[in-house]
Amino acid sequence: MKIALLAGDGIGPEILREAVRILDVLRGEGLKIETEEALVGGAAYDAHGDPLPAKTLELVKQSDAVLFGAVGGPKYDTLARDKRPEKAILGLRKECDFFANLRPATVFPELADASTLKPEVVSGLDIMIVRELTGDIYFGQPRGVTGEKPNRVGFNTMHYTEPQIRRILHSGFRIAMARGRKLCSVDKMNVLETTQLWRDIAEEIAPEYPEVALSHMLVDNCAMQLVRNPRQFDVIVTGNMFGDILSDEASMLTGSIGMLPSASLDGNGKGLYEPIHGSAPDIAGQGKANPLAMILSMAMMFRYTFGNEEIAAGIEKAVRAALAQGLRTADIAAQGTRPASTAQMGAAVAASLQSH
Ligand code: NAD
Repeated sequence: MKIALLAGDGIGPEILREAVRILDVLRGEGLKIETEEALVGGAAYDAHGDPLPAKTLELVKQSDAVLFGAVGGPKYDTLARDKRPEKAILGLRKECDFFANLRPATVFPELADASTLKPEVVSGLDIMIVRELTGDIYFGQPRGVTGEKPNRVGFNTMHYTEPQIRRILHSGFRIAMARGRKLCSVDKMNVLETTQLWRDIAEEIAPEYPEVALSHMLVDNCAMQLVRNPRQFDVIVTGNMFGDILSDEASMLTGSIGMLPSASLDGNGKGLYEPIHGSAPDIAGQGKANPLAMILSMAMMFRYTFGNEEIAAGIEKAVRAALAQGLRTADIAAQGTRPASTAQMGAAVAASLQSH
């Protein structure tokens, strides 16, 4: 197992350090894991004038998986667009064809009160949103703004090829197979032809996965159902734009941005694993960051790239054990309580994993 470690900026290095602590426990148990670090984002720009240096890209291409902290910060906001730290993420997705973005929204029983929704609506929630990353209205041509004031016209093109739709739907079905075997495909077929094609292809593929119950839902209804009764969902698969919006909505069901992992996969199981949050410059370097999203991203790596459910579930169990001990970083701590530091949380998860 070769893993590229790209810490990035802000809290990236602090949270990745805690994930490496977990890897060290696994190494101690005899697991053969090779890791190598490389610069990315603002840190890479500072050192090499490029947020995604060729050496970093080369390492990623040679690795089975990437653990990615976060990139960005106010210091870089005035740079030209192609030099900005965030460009590194887009570059990695494109160069490695990471087309399937997986975002779980899981509510740990200990944190059911952290959501803005009532605990009885969200407790036990465990949804996976699979979002297509390479097509749709974000990339379609033609696009632009034409004409003169006051009659300018803005236009974008929703565009999906059949192979793009097929591969993301297959990802959705396979992930559903590994979970609760329910797949909800989200579209807007009542007004958009592109998504009628999406629905037709989903129906064509469905017989290949007879154990998965496929359903369809219009995106506006899905947005509503996610807050009305989110536990009805197991896996949701959808296009780039709908997935962008629905995955942010679903992530907030859980209450804390510091808890949410993600994966971006290619067609061969290689993946980039990162927390959904950014580099949190406001708390960087203070030991306040919650490392659990990063650690849970690593659990996803064992599940989806290395196919090792035992380790993935073991890490998730260790996270739950740390929470059950009452440990809370500042973002999830109750008011007036003394929060744990990033390192204390990481150490508690590592200790729990070791003892099991
Ligand atoms: P952010 O996610 O970094 O922070 C939003 C808020 O959540 C902040 O108050 C922060 O302190 C808090 N927070 C985030 N992660 C936390 C954690 N693990 N523990 C505790 N609190 C946490 O979003 P932002 O402030 O809008 O963006 C900051 C920088 O990150 C920007 O430069 C942005 O472009 C970049 N960004 C990077 C990524 C990425 O690397 N994938 C994603 C989003 C934003």
